[in-house]
Amino acid sequence: MTTRLYSHPIFLEHLTPPGHPERPDRLRAIARRLEDPDFDGLDRVEPTAADEQLVLLAHPESHLDRIKAAIPEEGLTRIDSDTTLSPRSFEAVMTAIGASNAAVDDVFGRKADNVFVAARPPGHHAEAEKAMGFCFFNQAAIAARYAQKTHGAERVAIIDWDVHHGNGTQDIFWSDPSVLYCSTHQLPLFPGTGAKGETGVGNIVNAPLSPRDGGSQFRDAFTSRVLPALANFRPDLVIISAGFDAHHRDPLAEINLVEDDFDWATGKLMDVAYRSANGRLVSLLEGGYDLEGLSSSVATHVKRLMKG
Ligand SMILES: [Zn+2]
Repeated sequence: MTTRLYSHPIFLEHLTPPGHPERPDRLRAIARRLEDPDFDGLDRVEPTAADEQLVLLAHPESHLDRIKAAIPEEGLTRIDSDTTLSPRSFEAVMTAIGASNAAVDDVFGRKADNVFVAARPPGHHAEAEKAMGFCFFNQAAIAARYAQKTHGAERVAIIDWDVHHGNGTQDIFWSDPSVLYCSTHQLPLFPGTGAKGETGVGNIVNAPLSPRDGGSQFRDAFTSRVLPALANFRPDLVIISAGFDAHHRDPLAEINLVEDDFDWATGKLMDVAYRSANGRLVSLLEGGYDLEGLSSSVATHVKRLMKG
């Protein structure tokens, strides 16, 4: 097994206001954890920034222009009450897109069996025409379309276990049957979407969890809704929107997952990838705001990716 890890110092240069949960220390905590000798076998690569035109795979040019124009020369620009841009945010997000697209190239080109992208800002709340929820462009959506355009993927599955619903990914693929979007998330919670009845053209599977649910409800949601949809869809590529804010320590939500739940779900999605996608799996960091819960969950997730 070769597991590739993408990270880059530019991801620390996307700044948020003091006290904001989506902060550079998240990636520092992950990097420290992945220094453990257990991870010596990781293939560590620094990504390069994507061409701006690749944003247009999932967003109109007006959205790209709006974000570019909002980048401040100094200080922070506020897009909404919790989403801000700093002087190097554009470079950071374009490098995050470069990393997730390179990960797609890697698994199709057999340079890696699977890839974890430790980037920020996250992307799954970014709708086609709207930045929100700490997100500007939707890296998972762009990567899915990039796989279709560049590698001839016909069916891409995006599985999102971040504790918040990926309204952005759902919005972008709402009427696109070539992409299956499956999400487990807490409801009610920001952004408020993700009810079971939101099904797109039959390609959206929402499996909401209730506050205080834990591993057994999460695994039930996977087993009864997410995994059957994936078995039926037979993706050529599996993309995980891997947020770790459903961890019991996380301050932003009330779901009580433990590391073993992420290990289990990772294994199940690797099985899906082996059955129809030659093992091709790309995992993109989304949320996760308790530094200990985040870093130990990422470590468990990556260990499972490396083990096969
Ligand atoms: Zn989240």
